[in-house]
Amino acid sequence: MPTAISELTTMRVGGSAREFAVAKTSDELVSLVRAADAAHTPVLLIGGGSNLVVADSGFDGLVIKVETSGTRIDGDSMWVAAGEPWDPVVAASLDEGLAGLEALSGIPGLTGATPVQNVGAYGTVTSDVLRELTVYDRESGRIEVWGPDRCGFGLHRQSVFKHSMRYVILDTTMELRRSTVSDPVRYAGLADRLGVTIGDTVPAKDVREAVLDLRGQKGMVLDPADHDTWSVGSFFLNPVLEEVPEKASRAPQYPDPSGIKIHAAWLIQNAGFAHGFGTEFGNGTVALSTKHVLAVTNRGGASTADVMALASHIRDGVRAEFGITLVPECDLVGCSLT
Ligand SMILES: Cc1cc2nc3c(=O)[nH]c(=O)nc-3n(C[C@H](O)[C@H](O)[C@H](O)COP(=O)(O)OP(=O)(O)OC[C@H]3O[C@@H](n4cnc5c(N)ncnc54)[C@H](O)[C@@H]3O)c2cc1C
Repeated sequence: MPTAISELTTMRVGGSAREFAVAKTSDELVSLVRAADAAHTPVLLIGGGSNLVVADSGFDGLVIKVETSGTRIDGDSMWVAAGEPWDPVVAASLDEGLAGLEALSGIPGLTGATPVQNVGAYGTVTSDVLRELTVYDRESGRIEVWGPDRCGFGLHRQSVFKHSMRYVILDTTMELRRSTVSDPVRYAGLADRLGVTIGDTVPAKDVREAVLDLRGQKGMVLDPADHDTWSVGSFFLNPVLEEVPEKASRAPQYPDPSGIKIHAAWLIQNAGFAHGFGTEFGNGTVALSTKHVLAVTNRGGASTADVMALASHIRDGVRAEFGITLVPECDLVGCSLT
């Protein structure tokens, strides 16, 4: 049984789990969590480990790897167990002639974690398609079926699940569309790549291919041979500001109900951090991706402390240049920026 958390996360850092278990069914998952709670043992759920950075000292409790399985298509809806890897679910939905998930192609991790930060890409977010999910509430001890209205989905990768250990997501049901035609393309870079304009539709599988291609160019599709993908994807959130400082006025900006969303990657680059920056941290074990400055990457042999040191340096540099404080998008467990 592996207990090294570095083997369970895409950043490939993190010490050992005091206890480790694999849940193959939802019943097992709930039983493991119930027993740990009764024994006052802290619990950390790990899906694909693609949005997690855990301390070098590891986790002093029970780490549960979610490996539940099963998918079921019923009309236009698709039920998926939490432990099913996400991208194969996207591919299977398209093969079944169901559209709606195509823009979410290539995102690492498992289906059960997609509502946690309302995973999104290329103009689509999980809440666009989520019809309901089954959760185990560790406080009440009840298993409940929720509609999306209870999930607290907000902007900026928010939900009631994010940074909370209270709920265990057991399965999700998505409402898709029986069609081989994509949803309207909502993202300029994707429209350019497809040679269409925003709002156009194309074969849904073409969107998948284009998204995989665009993501691959940015190191945003997992590839064990490519250290640019030994990351958590975007390390920092795009900040939302009431007012954009003059110095950052040339940054790409988008209207947002709570302010103005501004490109974190632009801020990082224009604070002087180029692709591949950071090799002096941790003796070359960490650096920004050579393809995308928003990804902090493990070049091999990195520790969590190395990752935190580089990420802190980037945050500080952006703050010094623009007065804007970047906040991590990923979950930091037992560690923090310095
Ligand atoms: C190369 C790369 C590209 C990425 N691109 C994107 C992107 O385009 N868009 C995007 O939004 N994200 C992206 N991510 C981040 C990540 O892939 C997503 O957040 C993904 O949904 C995480 O899934 P996971 O199974 O790996 O979760 P994990 O990292 O294992 O867990 C994340 C959090 O969810 C909790 N959790 C896991 N499973 C459950 C469950 N069943 N019930 C309750 N809590 C649970 C964990 O305890 C943890 O707190 C990217 C990451 C990488 C490495």
